[in-house]
Amino acid sequence: MKCCGRFRHAEKLTKSQRKNKMIVVPEKVIPNLIDRHVAFNAVEKVFAAMSNGEACNFPVIREDIGYADALYGFKSGFDKAGMALGLKSGGYWPGNEARGLSNHQSTVFLFDADTGQVKAMVGGNYLTAVRTAAASSVSIKHLARENSKVLGMIGAGHQSVFQLRSAVEQRNFERIIGWNYHPEMLSRLEDVCAEIGLAFESVTLDELGAQADVIISITSSFAPILKAAQVKAGTHLACMGTDTKGKQEVEAELIADATLFTDQIAQAITIGECQHAIADGSLTEDRITEIGAVINGTHSGRTSADEITLFDGTGVGLQDLAVATAAVELALKSGDAIEFDF
Ligand code: NAD
Repeated sequence: MKCCGRFRHAEKLTKSQRKNKMIVVPEKVIPNLIDRHVAFNAVEKVFAAMSNGEACNFPVIREDIGYADALYGFKSGFDKAGMALGLKSGGYWPGNEARGLSNHQSTVFLFDADTGQVKAMVGGNYLTAVRTAAASSVSIKHLARENSKVLGMIGAGHQSVFQLRSAVEQRNFERIIGWNYHPEMLSRLEDVCAEIGLAFESVTLDELGAQADVIISITSSFAPILKAAQVKAGTHLACMGTDTKGKQEVEAELIADATLFTDQIAQAITIGECQHAIADGSLTEDRITEIGAVINGTHSGRTSADEITLFDGTGVGLQDLAVATAAVELALKSGDAIEFDF
């Protein structure tokens, strides 16, 4: 879309002129607008608002469209504290890579909560990665032991580098260790470690569980990878890959043994890592706490150095709206937003 005639750079308009205007923030400008700090703050704030009852996610829709093997759906919600109303639309197109596109595709739409008018359309692919990394990072900030030194990464796909970069900002990690189902992909993590000046080692799962103080899992696995017996006391786990019915990264026994936190309980027990322990009867949902309660100080979080804490990060629509709202604000300031009559 060119900025000419009807399409104007948004920063030239005042707030009242912006009525009936549609703002577009293209995917390509977003990496330069949203840094990890902005994403972290937006996600931490919206988790807190969810816990206060000021923000609510609406039921998720995810359907097999019966074409191109695609899964398509919506995640939506309203955050009254941040005045963010909208949805993320998108899904998974497995044939995309052959076309030079990312298999995951998403776009965020924001609406005016006073009028229902559409306000903005924001590229959602990069935002998905940074808001997911921000979620595990928020969990590390609030739940990992302060003296955590070793970070264990399970998974080396697209999301993993975002997770790694964000996690290392939360504790003084001295070493990163990693395991992946496809070991050749671990070079991705090794490259990031070299860039940020941290030692990286590829390890077995036994070694990973025995050494890591914090573990992030971010895979598309449908069977448990990490076993309860492999994890040492005091570990914090952020299980981020399981966001669909049937996926699983850790043994249900590990869930049953840990002190459990999540972004949203309704999602954790249906599409998150907790779904399996709920299904086999070893877990009841009253044992799961939403992380917003820890952020707000209404739950004490970790209570001992020996406790295993586990954050089941399922990914909620409000995270997407929070970072998309930040992207719109920053794009208006930088002149990267495109605005037109609608
Ligand atoms: P990707 O396709 O780039 O990487 C997939 C990862 O899973 C790789 O590490 C791969 O080696 C591993 N893997 C593939 N098959 C496996 C198997 N059978 N057993 C174990 N590991 C296997 O994907 P990505 O974009 O990095 O996403 C990873 C996961 O995170 C996906 O499941 C995705 O749906 C999920 N995700 C979750 C959120 C959230 O908010 N929780 C957000 C985005 C993505």
